[in-house]
Amino acid sequence: MERSSASQPAQFDLIVIGGGVNGTGIARDAAMRGLRTLMLEKRDVASGASGANSGMIHGGIRYLRYDRKVTELAAIDSGYIQRIVPHLLFRIPFIYPLIAANPEHRTLYERYIHYGTEVVMGIYDLYQPYKRGLPHTRLSPEEVYELEPGIRRDLFAGLSMDEWGIDPHRLCALNAQSAMQHGAIVLTYHQVHGFIRGADGSVQGVEVRDARTGAHRRYHGKLVVNVAGAWAPKVAAMAGATVRMRPGKGVHLTLDRRLSNYGVISTAVDGRQIFVMPHEQTSIIGTTDDDYYGDPDDLKVTQDEVEYLLEGIEHVFPTIREARILRAWAGIRTTLHEYGKLEDALSREHAIYDHGPEGAPGFLTLLGGKLASYRVQSEELTDLACRRLGVDRECRTHLEVLPGGERFPDVAALAESYRLPEPMVGRMAYRHGANAERICELAAADPALRAPLCRCEQTSYAEAVYCLREENVRKLTDLRRRCRLGMGPCQGARCAAPAAALFARERGLSGPAARAELLEFVGARFKGRRPVLDGESMAQEELNRGNHFTTGNLDGSEPRE
Ligand SMILES: Cc1cc2nc3c(=O)[nH]c(=O)nc-3n(C[C@H](O)[C@H](O)[C@H](O)COP(=O)(O)OP(=O)(O)OC[C@H]3O[C@@H](n4cnc5c(N)ncnc54)[C@H](O)[C@@H]3O)c2cc1C
Repeated sequence: MERSSASQPAQFDLIVIGGGVNGTGIARDAAMRGLRTLMLEKRDVASGASGANSGMIHGGIRYLRYDRKVTELAAIDSGYIQRIVPHLLFRIPFIYPLIAANPEHRTLYERYIHYGTEVVMGIYDLYQPYKRGLPHTRLSPEEVYELEPGIRRDLFAGLSMDEWGIDPHRLCALNAQSAMQHGAIVLTYHQVHGFIRGADGSVQGVEVRDARTGAHRRYHGKLVVNVAGAWAPKVAAMAGATVRMRPGKGVHLTLDRRLSNYGVISTAVDGRQIFVMPHEQTSIIGTTDDDYYGDPDDLKVTQDEVEYLLEGIEHVFPTIREARILRAWAGIRTTLHEYGKLEDALSREHAIYDHGPEGAPGFLTLLGGKLASYRVQSEELTDLACRRLGVDRECRTHLEVLPGGERFPDVAALAESYRLPEPMVGRMAYRHGANAERICELAAADPALRAPLCRCEQTSYAEAVYCLREENVRKLTDLRRRCRLGMGPCQGARCAAPAAALFARERGLSGPAARAELLEFVGARFKGRRPVLDGESMAQEELNRGNHFTTGNLDGSEPRE
């Protein structure tokens, strides 16, 4: 799967700039319709918003009020996404606790809020069948306490709401892999820094820099699509075109285990809704939503943002501060530009811009939208590209499964026949679906690969090797996005060094090159830990850093970060 750009053809029908969920989705759709497709991503797939979101494949109850069609589109597409990648979806039922001013005596106002909220939930129920969701339920306080013992004890009622979560990194990786299987060229760590223009100003290709080798290359394309997310305005400007966006910074916290059985909705100090939810092996608190004027490459989480989220969750989940925060992370919402609205009220609609009238024919931008409706957004753009290119092929991305989606393996049987721990095979099956069997075969062929590499996430050496060989992994940090390496409670303290050794062996790297990969991996983890470290966790981090920075450092050189 590792391909060098020098050996690639230079002429394509469609060039896609950006390897987020929209870029990988378009690359897959276009390749499936027979277009000669090139996708370029300046880092790894899912390095932008697609790897920094809440991972909800939902309809979005919040958008019902102003943007009912966004909710409908996302709910319908969520149903298709569940069909094409069933192994990667997991149910997250939510509880909406209703807090009483006086638990003994409900006021008229509280009844009003209760039944009023049920109106919205009742409307949302209309969309639940599209995404195999259950209708909402009215809960008594006692029922809420039984389901979720950590919740404060002065509720007058609760409501349940059904949603779905996904691993967004793998969703992008699988779209990219499928695109490649259908003939697309996918080049990660390739940054577009300019355009090839015709005499009439038409965009006829891109100028690209390989971030790993520094080599420059030009690729010609009949159409070029900008799906560079928060960077889309910058990319458009290189072609003399304008994309107006209202970027919104969203911060999440990851806590070290599943703290609740359900997602729990709370109200932050400013009245915004936030949540804590179990996600994979951890819990996630999210999210802030603030206008962002800075550089998308320099997103930092502040202490204030961490405190805002903790305070908001403490409001319904009083013991939240006893939990260990693993990290804080941020992404940028690529919301369409509107003036005079609060961030929360901005539309989550997507838009496609044709830059022809601005003097850049052959150049399109897709902006906005949702992870949960990426497939239909990609379909819309690919339909347009096909019309422009005179190609008459229907979209099939809602019908053909993504790699591994063919069937869910029998985990117990697989664990028994390959004599692997069932929890390890269970996580493998969740991440890889039917391809879990191929991973088990790797472990059978080489017993050294049976061992766990990342114990927090139950990732075996065999799974990491499978990702390295099959899933377009170019750097050690990419393994985090393929098999959650270093995303659990130890944040790479235990797995980073052995993973770097494995990576070096698979790629034939020298000692210093392997060490550079290790330090980059550890440095990336530290970036997310820095805003949340204090007390004991700071001491632990010092110890980890000492270990990692001296590992293999026989020449005494200083680490680069
Ligand atoms: C905090 C937050 C929470 C969210 N929660 C949800 C949710 O729960 N559910 C949901 O449905 N949606 C959610 N979203 C929205 C969703 O994440 C986005 O709609 C989606 O990820 C956008 O994908 P994209 O491919 O357009 O952009 P991105 O994922 O940002 O991809 C753009 C890519 O372009 C690359 N790039 C930039 N410049 C260049 C260049 N010059 N050359 C090559 N590559 C380049 C970047 O590296 C990046 O990888 C959330 C968003 C945020 C920020």
